[in-house]
Amino acid sequence: MNFSQLAVTEPVLRALADVGYTNPTPIQEKAIPVVLHRKDLLACAQTGTGKTAGFAIPVLQLLQEDLAKVKRFRGIQVLVLTPTRELAIQVEESFRDYGKYLGFRSLCIFGGVSQVPQVQALEKGVDILIATPGRLLDLVGQGLLSFNDLRYFILDEADRMLDMGFVHDVKRILKLIPKERQSLFFSATMPDEIRQLADTILKHPVSIAV
Ligand code: AMP
Repeated sequence: MNFSQLAVTEPVLRALADVGYTNPTPIQEKAIPVVLHRKDLLACAQTGTGKTAGFAIPVLQLLQEDLAKVKRFRGIQVLVLTPTRELAIQVEESFRDYGKYLGFRSLCIFGGVSQVPQVQALEKGVDILIATPGRLLDLVGQGLLSFNDLRYFILDEADRMLDMGFVHDVKRILKLIPKERQSLFFSATMPDEIRQLADTILKHPVSIAV
């Protein structure tokens, strides 16, 4: 199995060759076709399985497909929530690597640092926002963020979100984003509380596990 057999096309394919990926990992084999079919996804996968590329690759390709229909979207189109700043940075690097020939603008925002550079970057325009929940809500509270154009929502490491006490923040964020969207939910474990959270986010999801 290679990426083009999963219906990944240029220029994402070329970017994957640049980073040295020759074959998809098992989670990518399962996740990429589901996302490309524009279905919601409930994925049980640990870090190290290649889960980030499992959502970043198809979402980038869908953004490219969308461009063919609508010339230009103005606001944030993709929101990825992560529990930690380290993960947010890694996810943003992945979107940049796989999307390097596409020209979408990505930004990662997190707390514990000055918001000034993050706000300046937001003002220039962002297509793909990767954020930790607290800083995101801070900026929303200041009227600096809106999600009118959002079409893709990804919750990464949902079980760690729960462990770190972010579930209430996640639920507040869900109230701020459009209901009409594609949602992808990733968690290493699926305890009842996580399943219930997934139920509130996803519509008729396809479930996968590795
Ligand atoms: P993740 O589980 O998303 O944290 O990814 C774990 C590591 O696997 C990262 O360093 C990725 O760059 C790498 N990786 C992801 N997909 C592939 C692939 N198809 N081939 C080789 N390495 C990969």
